Amino acid sequence: MPRDDIVNLAARRSLFYPSAEIYPNSPSGFWDFGPDGETIRRKIIEFWRNELVEKEGFVEIYGAQILPEAVFKASGHLESFNDPITQCAKCNSLHRADKLIEEKTKENVPESLPTKDLDKLIEKNQITCPKCRGRLGEVRKFNMMMGLDIGATGQQRCYLRPETCQTIFLNFNRIYKTMRQNLPIGIAQAGCSFRNEIAPRNTLLRERELGQMEIEVFFDPQKIDEVPDFDYVSDYLLNLWLLDEKKLVKVSCSDAVKKKIVSGKTVAYYLARVQQLYANYGIGIDKMRFRQLDKDEKAFYAAETWDFEVETDLGWIELIACNYRTDYDLKRHSKVSNTELSVSEDGRKFFPHVFEISAGIDRTMYVLLDHTFRKEKRGAEERIFLALNPRIAPYLAGVFPLVKKDGLLELAKNLTAEIRNYYLDAFMDEKGSIGKRYARADEIGIPYAITIDYQTKEDNTVTLRERDTMEQKRIPLESLPETLWKMKHGKLKFSSL
Ligand SMILES: [Zn+2]
Repeated sequence: MPRDDIVNLAARRSLFYPSAEIYPNSPSGFWDFGPDGETIRRKIIEFWRNELVEKEGFVEIYGAQILPEAVFKASGHLESFNDPITQCAKCNSLHRADKLIEEKTKENVPESLPTKDLDKLIEKNQITCPKCRGRLGEVRKFNMMMGLDIGATGQQRCYLRPETCQTIFLNFNRIYKTMRQNLPIGIAQAGCSFRNEIAPRNTLLRERELGQMEIEVFFDPQKIDEVPDFDYVSDYLLNLWLLDEKKLVKVSCSDAVKKKIVSGKTVAYYLARVQQLYANYGIGIDKMRFRQLDKDEKAFYAAETWDFEVETDLGWIELIACNYRTDYDLKRHSKVSNTELSVSEDGRKFFPHVFEISAGIDRTMYVLLDHTFRKEKRGAEERIFLALNPRIAPYLAGVFPLVKKDGLLELAKNLTAEIRNYYLDAFMDEKGSIGKRYARADEIGIPYAITIDYQTKEDNTVTLRERDTMEQKRIPLESLPETLWKMKHGKLKFSSL
């Protein structure tokens, strides 16, 4: 859906909105999530946890968000986590040099391009300040980490983490020992990271405080092709956008390994699991791809990177970086902290290699809104609804008493409580016409609406309405919670009721 529709819906229903909005000079790139938005966001994380973390037998941790400077010396962030910026000589506004060039030339500009080359591209393409057409100054590197000093003396330099994964690397050795598992071990974390973006934009797509759900799979590099569950995905087709062919090709996981498109079965397996996860969220397979990054575009630590992207109204949006980080992180932290972080298995002592699945929570939310937004003309009326997966929708069902009198309100209250006893989310709405209540529920993606009317009192049935088709069926009151549970989990279809 167009960006404006998302922004309007988000504002109208308080899904998300600028943080500290009542103060006019609050910095941009920080977002608060209202009740329905927070619920969607939380369910996106829960879905990832259920479908990927738990099904793969990974473990999850929660780490602190502020880390000492030494961590980022070791990780390379102090030196390399930079954006190229240029300042307008006339109006002094700051711009991302690479983005300006990309906008003008419509071509990818590698992040690692030296500043001198960026200067040349600006000159060659006659790029000026987008605000005032003024001349742009020399490109320089700007470190995007947010620093702060800890303690009363203010002498302990720390940073808000720019990615959640460093905590996982710092925790690896302890968890490896306490979990008493051999490799491979997957460690997951959902949390926030902080980046001092020059130009936050497109709401949740480029934020300064961003939600990440990351997984680091630690494995023995000699066993990269030992994946017990590989048979389940060997014929599964990956959507790969290949550098050589400059186009999207569908490649089975086994072919991707055989043709050496990926480093090994471990990589192919997790790419498949990522693609399946997003298909299950509700993104069409033909709208997603893994884009192979060339060496200029990849992060400095990565041997192989696939950006998982989804096509939206704003073009292809990167949701996940899938990085084969080799042993870079553990080796560096081991060296700088002077702590032994290698493992001993099979009579060998080595640093585990890491395959990383680093997903954006808020970006996933934006893309799900983009993909599920529907606008339908019905005569003079226009209907808006979100075709959200029932497991992502803020509520599974709305309960609507036709009127408040004659005991219908009590019946509705009891039913809402009964649905909640099944650990399903329901809300009750008794205000306004039934049509308006349906419309309000549709707009935030509530899959089912239940109406309690006078017939309910006579025969203990209710009207159950499905969001997408607007079809209605009469259902016995007592079977309703179980029916809703089955439909939520895909074990029963509304059409077969
Ligand atoms: Zn300017």
